[in-house]
Amino acid sequence: MEKPRLGFFKYSCCAGCEFQFMYFQKHIIESITSFDIVYARMLKRGGNPHGPFDIALVEGTITESWQVDELKKIREQSKQLFAIGSCAIDGGIPAIKSTMPELEAEKKVYKDLSTIHSIRPHSVDAYIKVDGYIRGCPPGERDLHEALASVLTGKKPAFLQYSVCVECKLKGNICVLVAYNMPCMGPVTNAGCGALCPSMNRACYSCFGPMKQANGPALARKFRLMGLSREDIIRKFTEFGADTIEFRRVIETYED
Ligand code: SF4
Ligand code: SF4
Ligand code: SF4
Repeated sequence: MEKPRLGFFKYSCCAGCEFQFMYFQKHIIESITSFDIVYARMLKRGGNPHGPFDIALVEGTITESWQVDELKKIREQSKQLFAIGSCAIDGGIPAIKSTMPELEAEKKVYKDLSTIHSIRPHSVDAYIKVDGYIRGCPPGERDLHEALASVLTGKKPAFLQYSVCVECKLKGNICVLVAYNMPCMGPVTNAGCGALCPSMNRACYSCFGPMKQANGPALARKFRLMGLSREDIIRKFTEFGADTIEFRRVIETYED
């Protein structure tokens, strides 16, 4: 029997998601070896980027118009397409640029702008329909396994739709926000990492991105009462979620 065909595509990002995919091979080897990896530039030379694919994984933020055209073609050629990593899902690190005028951001980085043709950074689902989100920066093993297993079994992937706080409480952790006054983003962050940082007595910094309908403004008010400056608050909500409705509400409130 032929194996399902998998393509892995990269747009503007650090390629850490694909690296993580390679690294996870030793953890979820049964799932990954069940696929014919047709295209994945970090994994192997050559390959066929045109499809068709049973599953496409797309990492990175969309920051150039050619990427939009290519992305649409990949969508047409893929039965299932998952956005992987916070860059692809929420704009991630590249979308920090959205907090200032496009030209101002480019001038900060490049001396010669003649070869720069970037557009405002957006998540993958701003342009195409996706079948699910494999969250994290870098992504977690649990959601990657869910996505791959859904293709192998024909069942809908069960992605978690609650906050990191729920995972944290299920683990019986001491709350670092309440007990140690640390500015933890757990209440507004989507679960999936197993509350990794609070389990190590560290505040969550929201690398899994905002939970749908998260109440960012309420958490921001709490941070303000804890003594965080407006700039600190903007930074916390900008790091991974600058292209999301949930976090933009906070950023716009605290911007001058
Ligand atoms: S989500 Fe994180 S690990 Fe993945 S490409 Fe973006 S910056 Fe790199
Ligand atoms: S430590 Fe953070 S994630 Fe855990 S319960 Fe407290 S606020 Fe939520
Ligand atoms: S606790 Fe927060 S910052 Fe840490 S891995 Fe989970 S989502 Fe990312």
